[in-house]
Amino acid sequence: MITSKKAIELENEHGAHNYHPLPVVLSKGEGVYVWDPEGNKYYDFLSAYSAVNQGHSHPKITKALTDQAQTLSLTSRAFYNNVLGEYEKYVTEYFGFDKVLPMNTGAEAVETAIKICRKWAYEKKGVHEQEAQIIVLENNFHGRTTTVISFSNDPDARKNFGPYTPGFIKIPYNDIEALRKALKQPNVAGVLAEPIQGEAGVVVPDDDYIRQMADLCKKNNVLFMADEIQTGIARTGSLLAVCGNCSCQGHCERQATYTKPDILILGKALSGGAYPVSAVLADNHIMEVIKPGQHGSTYGGNPLACKVAIAALDVVKDEKLAQNARKLGQLFRNEMQNLVDESDLFNKVRGRGLLNAVIINDSPESETAWKFCVALKNNGLLAKPTHGNIIRFAPPLVITEDQLMECVEIIRKTHSDF
Ligand code: PLP
Repeated sequence: MITSKKAIELENEHGAHNYHPLPVVLSKGEGVYVWDPEGNKYYDFLSAYSAVNQGHSHPKITKALTDQAQTLSLTSRAFYNNVLGEYEKYVTEYFGFDKVLPMNTGAEAVETAIKICRKWAYEKKGVHEQEAQIIVLENNFHGRTTTVISFSNDPDARKNFGPYTPGFIKIPYNDIEALRKALKQPNVAGVLAEPIQGEAGVVVPDDDYIRQMADLCKKNNVLFMADEIQTGIARTGSLLAVCGNCSCQGHCERQATYTKPDILILGKALSGGAYPVSAVLADNHIMEVIKPGQHGSTYGGNPLACKVAIAALDVVKDEKLAQNARKLGQLFRNEMQNLVDESDLFNKVRGRGLLNAVIINDSPESETAWKFCVALKNNGLLAKPTHGNIIRFAPPLVITEDQLMECVEIIRKTHSDF
């Protein structure tokens, strides 16, 4: 087998340098663990940016993938296939929407939502063509396409990629008055928001912020679009982060805490990491603006993706992953808070469910968080800094309490040796 050193050399020489990975090469994964080619075992505390919520190589998802791969993988949407309808029924019932539009990656799904929202504004709301505005939040992360980076604040994501797509109004996150004011502008079609800002450093808004946002959208006849690509599918201790503090996985009667978005955007864990699957969900009065030929993707809704997504969502429900994320997330934050209380290095812990971050007591430009992550790796736990001095901790949701406590010990030891 190829060595770690060789694998890194090959990537450096032949791949575009669009990422700066931690110096570790992974060659195998199972559940919460990953291994390098030399046989070293690590806890995965990133879960491929929350795509592997169900754990690496989950047998049920792997079986769905391999069974379907041997039967029929791709037809395009030029023809019907015998799995797409079954998946569409399953996923719409699972999340409580009339319709789904299947795509592949997260950024594509965000683009899809933006297109639906604009079209809805012109055809249903009566906004003059070319004038629709979408409200977005500062420090957002919604992907890497030209339109999506047009409303990013991250200089790395934007610089020298212009000209940018117009039609976005950017306001501060977690500021309901700013939203109220922005909604007074003419031609607003929708609001696009992450219920918790993952890439920005797991920024959790006030408890009532998302509900108030949805209420204001409704009052102003604009569409509330929730990007749950990172927060959704049990990561934050409920099926969706818009479910707030309800632990029902979105399937209970207590809808009071559930803020239903007009457009729900999913990706990542929709496939449990086995295959790129994303989706945009909405009710008929919105989704019906899309007619044949107006949007699509060669791979979107292919039989392989559909079978994988059904299996991945089954696992979330069967293994009660939202409940586990909720319970162990609380435990993890308590343990990290104890460390924060006795630490000069850790400033703060924040998060919800098993999407958490520790803020390092140093400037965002410093290398401290990076060096801490390298030290964690050397002790058997993989995490990655986001935005300089913030370290995100997001293990697969199948983690057990014993495993989590072992990870807390690794973090403690790394901290005391650092
Ligand atoms: N939206 C959010 C909230 C994300 O966290 C991400 C990825 O990190 C994306 C969109 C983009 O997804 P993808 O990388 O699959 O295009």
